[in-house]
Amino acid sequence: MDIHEHQAKDILARFGVPVPKGGVAFSPEQAAFRCRELGGGRCVVKAQVHSGGRGEAGGVKLCEGEAEVRDFAASLLGTSLVTKQTDAAGKRIDRLWVEEASAIERELYLGFVLDRKSERIMIVASGHGGMEIEDLAEEDPESLIRMVLDPAVGLAEYQARELAFKLGLQGAQIGQMVTVLKACYRAYRDLDAMMVEINPLVVCEDSSLVALDAKMSFDTNALFRRAEVAALRDPGQEDPRESFAADHGLAYVGLDGDIGCIINGAGLAMASMDMIQLAGGEPANFLDIGGGASPERVCQAFRTVLSDQNVSVILVNIFAGINRCDWIANGVIKAYTELGIELPVVVRLSGTNVEAGRKLIAESGLPIISADTLAEAAEAAVAARPTLIAAQ
Ligand code: GDP
Ligand code: MN
Repeated sequence: MDIHEHQAKDILARFGVPVPKGGVAFSPEQAAFRCRELGGGRCVVKAQVHSGGRGEAGGVKLCEGEAEVRDFAASLLGTSLVTKQTDAAGKRIDRLWVEEASAIERELYLGFVLDRKSERIMIVASGHGGMEIEDLAEEDPESLIRMVLDPAVGLAEYQARELAFKLGLQGAQIGQMVTVLKACYRAYRDLDAMMVEINPLVVCEDSSLVALDAKMSFDTNALFRRAEVAALRDPGQEDPRESFAADHGLAYVGLDGDIGCIINGAGLAMASMDMIQLAGGEPANFLDIGGGASPERVCQAFRTVLSDQNVSVILVNIFAGINRCDWIANGVIKAYTELGIELPVVVRLSGTNVEAGRKLIAESGLPIISADTLAEAAEAAVAARPTLIAAQ
């Protein structure tokens, strides 16, 4: 789960990272007021969206006083920001962060991530901040410093100092960097984060270190024990299809095609998406209903897939191990009647209780297209699609 920059700055500041003074604004008037609170002079107005690359996309501006802040805020609020990291629709700007301007001397990159290979938290840092990490890895890989942390020891003092030296920091900056590193590490570990990124971490003209940007994302599996973090969720920044699915315990990822998929097992879901493409179609989503899917759960899966306006056919593909085909069949029939489905539905069942499942579908009298194999199901779904488009 991602959070906003201002929320990440708030958290990191509590752990001891120096951040610029600032405030959140939901209206142009409030933004102007935030500027006045900061002395009424130069300040930076930043769109709060769950994406990086805001600067390049026009979502960050250095303003000279209240009037400029108000105008820029008015031009941003209510619009969507399209960055290199978002899709073409972008992310809605509902709130801004207004902070005091900093006199930048050097921009550094600092990130804490989970290194799956070593199964440890890893620090990634570079003396060339400001650029996105992907671009940095491509354009200046030599500048990247990586450091893996031992969970039994945590971040050792000598490691923090070594990193500060490698970044070319001097004098009092070294001690400040050690403080920043330790604070980020504690925030990461104590709050079950998946990522902490400060880009840029700047050295100001007065030689002090400040986190000019901050990004944090959290392990959703740990949110049950981090109520404070869970409360920071902003559904306005999420794909509404994905939020709906997550709220109903389904693993769903929205895609651009029109063939809605209801599958059990992530592997089978991926294979089904490949087969649809092989048959000349495009999947509208990835959806894994999981094992032991009750008719109610199948019904929720249909609701989720149907919440996507682009869907013109639904493909149900079940290989029942823990699942039972008769349950799935009952779920499909329930969805048909309760949701008033008018789209073609292709169902392929195999595994536990397959005969009972097929019988239920055949005897339902519903216009469900049955298929025996995955390939047949994918072809049937693609074939069912143009008829519908022609009929519209
Ligand atoms: P991002 O593009 O989404 O990563 O947003 P950032 O918060 O990193 O802002 C983009 C860029 O704006 C930064 O890399 C800085 O160069 C610049 N910027 C942000 N705050 C200030 C500031 O207080 N003073 C100055 N001069 N530049 C700033
Ligand atoms: Mn940034």
